[in-house]
Amino acid sequence: MPIYEYHCKGCGQDFEYLVLGGSEPDQCPVCKANTVCRLMSTCGFVSKGEGGETVSTSAGASSCTGCNATSCAGCGH
Ligand SMILES: [Zn+2]
Repeated sequence: MPIYEYHCKGCGQDFEYLVLGGSEPDQCPVCKANTVCRLMSTCGFVSKGEGGETVSTSAGASSCTGCNATSCAGCGH
């Protein structure tokens, strides 16, 4: 069973989620916000902007910020 790590941009919570049948969490289990982002290569700690530049994030808790410009399905902004 694939267990993925997710990160909530809203409250900064990291959590693991057992993905069954391709369904992914669209809500943070803590704050119920839909600002969760899977922590994988497409949504990693270093995100690339549309122009290929590295999108620097602040304070670590917002590591998913750059995903809006890439391909993180969980971060549809
Ligand atoms: Zn949250």
